[in-house]
Amino acid sequence: MVDKRDLGNYYDVVVVGGGIVGVFATLDLALRGVSVLLLERRGICSGTSGRSHGMLHSGARYATTDPKAAEECIRENRILSEIAPHCIRDVGGFFVSVTPEEEEYHHLLVSSCRRAGIPTSEVDVDLLKKLEPNITPEARSAILVPDKVVYARDLALSALLVALTRGASVVEGAFVEGVRVEGGQVAGVEASTPSGVFKVRCRGLVNAAGPWCGEVAKKAGLSVEVIPAAGVMGVASANLTRHIINRMRPPSDGDIIVPYSAGVTIAGTTAKLAEDLDRIEVDSEDAEILLQECGEVVPALRTIGFSRLYASIRPLIAKNGAETDLREMTRSFEVIDHSEEGVRGFVTAVGGKLTTGRLIAENAVNAIARHVGIPTGSFTERTRLNPPSREEAREIRGALESGEVVGQLRTMIDESLEAIDGERYWSLLLPLVFAKRMGERR
Ligand SMILES: Cc1cc2nc3c(=O)[nH]c(=O)nc-3n(C[C@H](O)[C@H](O)[C@H](O)COP(=O)(O)OP(=O)(O)OC[C@H]3O[C@@H](n4cnc5c(N)ncnc54)[C@H](O)[C@@H]3O)c2cc1C
Repeated sequence: MVDKRDLGNYYDVVVVGGGIVGVFATLDLALRGVSVLLLERRGICSGTSGRSHGMLHSGARYATTDPKAAEECIRENRILSEIAPHCIRDVGGFFVSVTPEEEEYHHLLVSSCRRAGIPTSEVDVDLLKKLEPNITPEARSAILVPDKVVYARDLALSALLVALTRGASVVEGAFVEGVRVEGGQVAGVEASTPSGVFKVRCRGLVNAAGPWCGEVAKKAGLSVEVIPAAGVMGVASANLTRHIINRMRPPSDGDIIVPYSAGVTIAGTTAKLAEDLDRIEVDSEDAEILLQECGEVVPALRTIGFSRLYASIRPLIAKNGAETDLREMTRSFEVIDHSEEGVRGFVTAVGGKLTTGRLIAENAVNAIARHVGIPTGSFTERTRLNPPSREEAREIRGALESGEVVGQLRTMIDESLEAIDGERYWSLLLPLVFAKRMGERR
């Protein structure tokens, strides 16, 4: 895709990790006129971002337990809906109570949403049952919130298309092996690719490696403690609901059902500590938990069952080792400026949600700005991301049909099929537009 020898040997900032945070950091830097190189060890969105539940949170899920995360979600829900409407489906989300305890939680949820600025509407149970015939007859109460479906890979690749037109460079299949620090300042990065090792000089580094943040920090002699919380999701090959359905209770296993795309429903999730960041254990027990918990609110799920399961890891923030319950740990984020530990120009962005990736990136770029002398003030909040044009879409369909899709791109598509994007055709086409643009830059 990109000839490594053609890479300029100096960039103001190198971004490590092509998940939602790294992609928005690359866009943010490019829009500020900074020379930026994004290095991703596999394909864009091959980490957690491409294996989420597909939900653009309203924040209601966190309103009672994690108000900061809730406020961040509703703010970003609105911004992403403005700048990338082609990546979002505004289906709306119901919180539904099915037990007396859940019904009691109803009022706390509504008042917490109000405090976080999340709009809610009371929904009569008879109306709910008309709108959602597969909801259990046991449903006791419901509210409507602005939860939406988000197509992560489309969002990331749309952001990268804009970044590329503003001069950003992107290399996939580039594993960052080492970080050079000279006189207490980031000075360069070494990465290995299938065609060999290359080195670039830089003054700043954004560590956006998600669950792998700790490993990347280690390469500069730094320490970042990330708690890797694995989650499993089940795909049911059926249209079961029109809206996103949340159980009306604090965050827990099997509490969300997402009508992801035509004929595809995704139920999730679970939470347990991951032992190996690159190999998540998924077993029948995970499927049973999801069918049990989600099936209580949509019983048809139990009859249909799952056609497949997939999993990923939440990069949660460890604070003084005090928090141990994975469900109670914050879904907000942290941007760590490592200058206090003796490395200027090295910033780690960790935690948060897919929904808040743009905001996390903005904060990370602001943190690095003062160390590398780049303009403060982000433009990503108001930069409209473009869907591919009709002509581009025609070209990429042609490329797919004529068998031009080879090598790295083939791998990306194969990886997509094993993740959430396997359910959609369009997200497999976008990488082709992206590759074409990268080719034009050579
Ligand atoms: C089960 C589950 C469901 C979720 N569902 C939702 C949801 O519905 N909505 C929502 O808003 N949030 C959701 N989240 C949270 C959200 O997906 C994550 O918070 C977010 O995707 C993290 O993005 P990231 O960019 O930080 O990390 P990632 O997407 O993991 O990106 C990190 C990237 O760094 C790369 N990398 C690592 N090491 C190196 C290296 N040495 N060199 C080069 N590259 C490297 C990796 O390959 C990876 O692509 C979910 C999380 C989980 C676990």
